Amino acid sequence: MDWELMDKWLEIDLSKIGQNLQAIRSNLPLGVRLIAVIKADAYGHGAIETARLLCARGVDFLAVTYLEEALALKEAEIDAQIMIFSPLTTAEQYEIALEQDITLTITSLPESLELDRISRRAGRPGKVHLKIDTGLSRFGLTAIEALQVCQVLAENPFIQIEGIYTHMSDAAGSEKYTRQQFMNFMGITTILEEAGFHFQIKHCANSSVFLKYPHMFLQAVRIGTLLTGQYPAGKFDTVLDLEDPYKFKCRVIAVQPRAQGSFLGYYRTYRLRRSARIAVLPAGYVDGLGLSVQNPPNGFWDMIKLLLKQMLGYLGIRGFTLQVKIGEAFYPVRGKIFMQNCLVELPEDSPVKAGDEVELPVRKTLAAKNIRHLYINAGDIDAEAIYHPVKNIQGQE
Ligand SMILES: *Cc1c(COP(=O)(O)O)cnc(C)c1O
Repeated sequence: MDWELMDKWLEIDLSKIGQNLQAIRSNLPLGVRLIAVIKADAYGHGAIETARLLCARGVDFLAVTYLEEALALKEAEIDAQIMIFSPLTTAEQYEIALEQDITLTITSLPESLELDRISRRAGRPGKVHLKIDTGLSRFGLTAIEALQVCQVLAENPFIQIEGIYTHMSDAAGSEKYTRQQFMNFMGITTILEEAGFHFQIKHCANSSVFLKYPHMFLQAVRIGTLLTGQYPAGKFDTVLDLEDPYKFKCRVIAVQPRAQGSFLGYYRTYRLRRSARIAVLPAGYVDGLGLSVQNPPNGFWDMIKLLLKQMLGYLGIRGFTLQVKIGEAFYPVRGKIFMQNCLVELPEDSPVKAGDEVELPVRKTLAAKNIRHLYINAGDIDAEAIYHPVKNIQGQE
């Protein structure tokens, strides 16, 4: 569908992903490999397009969580090593992963036995990385299990154990816990190496580790968040030259004047304190607007902070309500968000009109998957090769 026909879209500025890559590389010591993490559709930016940009910039190692995600990249003929973080569960998955030359993560002894069986039967080479659990408790091997896995796979002429890794659970927070995890990981790899097993690539650094612990880079870093122009939640001294490539945009579809005292939306949850103009936008909760991830509070004070934020939002205090950007100004979303719409309060004398472009605060990973992506500033990447047509909005107006 043509851009002119769309009322909402995700605008992805590929040149900014390129800039973020450059910022990461300029802090990456020579000889440390970058594994670009583009899971969850590259955190909402589009995995295939992001992969194409990264590959055009020389990235040769990508990672996603699931086999399905890796296969989609293969199908798009992405020319890079592709690794998956999640273990496989069926024989068919092992078969296709080997056939498609996808680098696997081994997280248990039964997985290594299954891989051993299927790779021998298929007579196909495969690369694996061992995952060590050092405190995240998602999945991963203990020292004993890792040793058993190495013994199984080292006997298999088709399988190359290329790497070993762990994932930090609190790198933005506790230094003590992170150092403990690192020591734990290094301890286990040393045991395995002393038993005669060799790992070309040891890795444990995600974005938070990358910003805080250069001595933990080892042979590779696995970076996702920073590539998308964001910092992980937490405090960091390192400042990179990052840019956000992502904008959730829509057009105003109607503007109506409403008198002071008018109720807005279902259940009359908001009443205008002054006369205003109400802009109707074509985005609601089905698009991801107003959705957030509700995590349990991280301690008592965190809970108080959460409650306080809710309260200030309830009182309609600026900065604690959802705000949309129209032109250079911010305006509050009022009332309950509808399934496919929301209401925005404009001043009585606002010149905003139907058709005007709006930027919405939608969490990237929660934006609905059916919203069209509009890629801009693809630069020297072959426009034909980009999945969706590349257009420059400014040029269209
Ligand atoms: C998501 C993920 C990463 C990347 O983490 P960021 O903090 O987004 O850089 C690295 N490794 C694993 C195993 C992951 O799941």
